[in-house]
Amino acid sequence: MSAANINIPDSTQPRVVIVGGGFGGLTLADKMSKMNFQVILIDKNNFHQFQPLFYQVAMAGLEPSSILFPLRKLFQKRKNVFIRVTTVTKVDTRHKRIHTLLGELHYDHLVLAIGADTNFFGNEKIARKAFSMKSVGEALTLRNKIFYDYERAITTMDYKERQGLIDIVIVGGGPTGVEVAGALAEMKKYIIPKDYTELDTNEIDIYLIQGGDCLLKGMSVEASQKAEEFLKELGVIIKLNSRVEDFDGKHVHIKGGEKIQANKVIWAAGIKGNTVAGLPEESIVWGGRIKVDRENRVAGVENVYAIGDIAYMEEPDYPKGHPQVAQVAIQQGKNLAYNFKLQAKEKPFKPFKYKDLGSMATIGRNRAVVDLPKFKFQGFFAWIVWLFVHLFSLIGMKNRVFVFINWVWNYFTYDQSLRLIIRPKNRIEKEETPS
Ligand SMILES: Cc1cc2nc3c(=O)[nH]c(=O)nc-3n(C[C@H](O)[C@H](O)[C@H](O)COP(=O)(O)OP(=O)(O)OC[C@H]3O[C@@H](n4cnc5c(N)ncnc54)[C@H](O)[C@@H]3O)c2cc1C
Repeated sequence: MSAANINIPDSTQPRVVIVGGGFGGLTLADKMSKMNFQVILIDKNNFHQFQPLFYQVAMAGLEPSSILFPLRKLFQKRKNVFIRVTTVTKVDTRHKRIHTLLGELHYDHLVLAIGADTNFFGNEKIARKAFSMKSVGEALTLRNKIFYDYERAITTMDYKERQGLIDIVIVGGGPTGVEVAGALAEMKKYIIPKDYTELDTNEIDIYLIQGGDCLLKGMSVEASQKAEEFLKELGVIIKLNSRVEDFDGKHVHIKGGEKIQANKVIWAAGIKGNTVAGLPEESIVWGGRIKVDRENRVAGVENVYAIGDIAYMEEPDYPKGHPQVAQVAIQQGKNLAYNFKLQAKEKPFKPFKYKDLGSMATIGRNRAVVDLPKFKFQGFFAWIVWLFVHLFSLIGMKNRVFVFINWVWNYFTYDQSLRLIIRPKNRIEKEETPS
């Protein structure tokens, strides 16, 4: 690859290169674009993804465009911001350069906000066969597969084969697993009987497999118990203290010998930090995260910072690092921007302190669990709170309006016309041709 400077003009302003347009990178870029810096924002995609609602795209509740936001649109009026859509492959900390698939680039300050990816804990077979939800593309692939399998199921006479097509196993009982299980159970209850009248919905089994002894481990006991109760009411089969050892595309093998027949496994059991070469070995710690100090400086290198999911910071209240959630990324983005402001005034950096605003998960309509720092509640009111928090966290007024309309429509009609199987022409021909 050429050593082109990927066509960024020279500037008298100090250059900050931000890698990743997720919650952390975008917050930082927004703040820094109002300061005396040349801001280069690099992402693999030309849009920001609102990951907490991926599962609604996968379950055909929302269209993908409602939870995505074009990066360029955000910075249309900021002349000091340059966006490049490419993958950063390596950091050369000695020469203060980054390598991307488009070329190289010099930085004065580098901020890695590259987030995390699904962790299959080294099980390549599961990684190849299971579905994950760390990008909108993956959410759409899952949507296609779910509805394609229902189409196949109504033409499949063999009971066992049909079971494989309609049963779904979700691995991981954290917020994502719980939300997916709730959404699938509602689909089974309200959508499938209308769309696939030939199918006996009693045949559909939704399994939620959790390695630990409770769901929503990071939340309160009340939230965990209520989530379990809500899911059971919806007919989800919950298996606690169960570890998935293998998945061959037809059967899920659970430690201890149990076997579940299902063609689809949704893997929501863990994440690991995305990688970029060139950082000192000792700065990469457990979960593939990058070790940073309280000012988000990467250990052992100069002028390189990491924020959000990728950053591992020990705070007295969080001795094992922060939870990998949007608020941490947003607050670290804000704090780092503030620190750059302090630096310009030759003042010392302000250490980061995470302010926990609470956590929540929804389990279908009318049911959610909310843990706020001072009180906890579950049920309908929690669900309303969940709706509004997510609505107002979305970027862009159009997205908020569209999501709101979608949710209201879904609420009253129990229906949504997004159950589309969109495949390239050659895939359709391949899948429809009997082997
Ligand atoms: C399904 C799901 C549900 C979730 N639900 C919640 C929730 O309800 N509440 C909550 O608080 N959090 C939730 N999270 C977690 C939350 O989304 C993350 O904590 C948050 O996105 C982290 O922000 P970030 O900026 O660190 O990284 P991300 O938002 O992941 O952004 C990283 C960005 O970096 C880019 N990138 C990565 N590597 C490179 C590279 N080498 N070169 C160029 N670009 C690169 C990616 O394309 C991406 O845009 C959920 C996550 C998932 C997957």
